[in-house]
Amino acid sequence: MNGALQELTGFRFCPRCGRATLQVDSVKSWRCGACGFRYFHNVAVAVALLLRVGDDLLFARRAHAPAAGLLDFPGGFVDPGESLEQALVRELEEELGMEIEPAALRYAFSGCNRYPFADVTYLTSDVFFLLELAERPPLECADDVAEAQWHPLDNIPWDQLAFPTVAHAVRRLLEDEQ
Ligand SMILES: [Zn+2]
Repeated sequence: MNGALQELTGFRFCPRCGRATLQVDSVKSWRCGACGFRYFHNVAVAVALLLRVGDDLLFARRAHAPAAGLLDFPGGFVDPGESLEQALVRELEEELGMEIEPAALRYAFSGCNRYPFADVTYLTSDVFFLLELAERPPLECADDVAEAQWHPLDNIPWDQLAFPTVAHAVRRLLEDEQ
C-alpha cells in the first residue's frame, strides 16, 4: 500500500527543504528523512446531487478530464470553509445555473472514488444528496458540464457512466425503489 501512495502523487522532493529525502510514512502520509516535514494526502470530499423528477434522474456529461464525455452527477469538490450543502448549492449554480434551497437537500449515502487530475490522484469521499422536484428545472450548462441529460431509472446507460461511484449510486437508488 505504501507504493500506492507513491503512485498516487509521484512526489519525490521535500517541499520544505528541497532534498530528495521524502519517504512514504504511512498509507496516507509522507515524511522527510532530513527535516522532519510531514504531509498527509488526506481524502478529498466531493458532493453530488441525485435529482429526481418522477422516474427520471439528472446526469451531467463531463466536459473535461477525467472521464470527459461520460455521465456524472452534478457536483464537485468541497472548498475550504464550506459545508457540504453550501458546496453543492455553489456547484449547481456554477455548473447548471440552478438555484437550490440547502434545506431541501436530503443526505442519501456516500461512497469513495479515485480522481486523477494533473498527475496527482486524489482519493475522494463522495457524499450524495437527494432532491425530488415536481418538474424539470431550467438548466444552463456552463463550466465543467457539456450537457445535462435525463435518464429514466429503469433505462440507465450503464456503459456511459463516468466512475464506479456513479454506478454504485444508481444501484443504491434502484435498491431503494424495491
Ligand atoms: Zn525536508
